[in-house]
Amino acid sequence: MKTTVLFMLLALLASPLLRAAENPIALVIHGGAGTIEKSNMTPAREKAYRDKLRQALDAGYGVLEGGGRSMDAVIAAIQVMESSPLFNAGKGAVYTYDGHHELDASVMDGKTRQAGAVAGVRRIESPIALARMVMEDSPFVMLSGEGAETFARSRGVPLVENRMFDTEQRLEQLQRAKEKLERENRRGKDYQAAVEALPSPYKMGTVGAVALDRSGNLAAGTSTGGMTAKRYGRIGDSPVIGAGTFADNDSCAVSATGHGEYFIRYNVAADICARVRYQGKSVTEAADKVIHDVLWPTGGTGGVIAVDTDGNIAMPFNTKGMYRASRSGSKPAKIAIFKEE
Ligand code: ASP
Repeated sequence: MKTTVLFMLLALLASPLLRAAENPIALVIHGGAGTIEKSNMTPAREKAYRDKLRQALDAGYGVLEGGGRSMDAVIAAIQVMESSPLFNAGKGAVYTYDGHHELDASVMDGKTRQAGAVAGVRRIESPIALARMVMEDSPFVMLSGEGAETFARSRGVPLVENRMFDTEQRLEQLQRAKEKLERENRRGKDYQAAVEALPSPYKMGTVGAVALDRSGNLAAGTSTGGMTAKRYGRIGDSPVIGAGTFADNDSCAVSATGHGEYFIRYNVAADICARVRYQGKSVTEAADKVIHDVLWPTGGTGGVIAVDTDGNIAMPFNTKGMYRASRSGSKPAKIAIFKEE
């Protein structure tokens, strides 16, 4: 009898289910980086951000705790932020120069290295969900503009009016940005130089998530309205795999936020994971190096969130603040906005 019980106990201990339950899980999210200072924030506004970050974190972490997939956790967390007017993604997206909203998003699965992205879509309520659909239900990685919307319709995704993304606060931001651009223009700067001269709040704000699930699989996702007053179909780093989003089970998962042109040129997300994979760096060392020593000296501002397959996390940024939150293993959830937190 005793031997049978012992045998059953041993069998249970060795069961993959039980071992899986011991594997670490982790989720990190961001809601954009930039000139975020306590002095510019009312207590009510700060609370609204913290509450929303908490809600997004809980939505994603709940998926992981329930044994769900990292990709599902990433989507769940990002959709909470896409539907909030507080962040520059989905509802609350910034305006283009012409007064529209053009949204970009991407996802990557660390196990298969499959990826999906949409760029410059105007009528998609959840760009992150469509990016996933591109990954799972098309032979392509990136679809753009009207083509992406035709794809969405063919898959039964309803199109929404572009004005559903309107918010008063972003409209004012566009007006201020245009005034600044025109002033720079009168001083002889062309559009490109004038955009470069815009302060960071006009260039920043994006949401993203990276996750590790109980099966040891990583996933990453990023969704954005891009840059205020962008023109000519400008696309930033957020939908570019390797720049704004990357996931690979042999190294790490990364989602970025910042001045997209720099993140594209320095291939930021993939560079961090390459340092982990080929140089044996920790995810913290690799992410710090790229954000502080590679990007910053060039003028590239922003930050990233990253996680590896052991559940180690990093959230470096070279701006004044970054909306961020994380939870891993038995550690309590961390929600932070400013640098000194
Ligand atoms: N990276 C985004 C872009 O350049 C903006 C941001 O993250 O704030 O479109």
